Amino acid sequence: MNKKEQRERFIDIIAGFTAYIAKYLPDDVLVKLQELREKEDAPLAKIIYEAMFNDLKMAKELDRPCCQDTGVIQYFVQVGTRFPLIDEIEDCLQEAVKKATIIGPLRHNAVEVFDEKNTGNNVGTRVPWIDWEIIPNSDDVKIYVYMAGGGCSLPGTAKVLMPLEGYEGVVEFVFNQITSYGINACPPLLVGIGIAGSADVAAKLSKKALLRPIGSHNSNPRGAELESLIENGLNTLKIGPGGLGGENSVMGVHIEQAARHPATIAVGLSTGCWAHRRGLIKINAHLEYETISHKGAIL
Ligand code: SF4
Repeated sequence: MNKKEQRERFIDIIAGFTAYIAKYLPDDVLVKLQELREKEDAPLAKIIYEAMFNDLKMAKELDRPCCQDTGVIQYFVQVGTRFPLIDEIEDCLQEAVKKATIIGPLRHNAVEVFDEKNTGNNVGTRVPWIDWEIIPNSDDVKIYVYMAGGGCSLPGTAKVLMPLEGYEGVVEFVFNQITSYGINACPPLLVGIGIAGSADVAAKLSKKALLRPIGSHNSNPRGAELESLIENGLNTLKIGPGGLGGENSVMGVHIEQAARHPATIAVGLSTGCWAHRRGLIKINAHLEYETISHKGAIL
């Protein structure tokens, strides 16, 4: 393949995958939703889960997104320094979003700030948002696609706590936010928490925490313990599917951390909704792909 053919192939793969994840939830989310559904006895909670799975069935049958809000598209790119299209990725991702918007079809969600004008193709200033990690000595690229819907972005927040507030302060911050805004994010929620020395890093880590597979744990045993304590605590609130009451509140709680300044403890919070549209794809130097989050998907 020459460079032009490589570009076209890469754009087609990413466009196809972006449109695909709007219609099909990742394998881990489907398993968790089914598990939570089976725990419900309350009639209303059962009806809400039935509606969710019916929605997913219809999305498949009609080849349409499973939620009207296809969100602002974000890509988290882990690119090897020897990946052949490393210089072209940003441009290719923008083209892929335009293409996915048509083939999805995806609702137009990119509104230019100050101009207050919808661009009409889901591409705008710094959108799709791209987060970069450079991987030395690799010729692959791994790309997470995330659809940041309005409702599930709404509880997002970050704050620098006084050091004496400690981890108790982190927990209080999370519970205050989930109990006041969580219901807007179409529960059961996936809760992402970032802990760091400054608000910007904590916020970014909280979003990265949402990319982790459900059922995975923080790499530090104390972090993993805090994840499960917060998860159990949030579940006792019995927010339920759709926020209408039920046995559980969350699909999971994920924490990611960075070493902090001795005098600050910053906490960031991001939430994912039941329709947690995120995908992970790996593409090698020959532009062969593997859909890690959606096993066996054909694009
Ligand atoms: S919170 Fe999620 S499921 Fe609810 S409307 Fe937004 S994107 Fe759709």
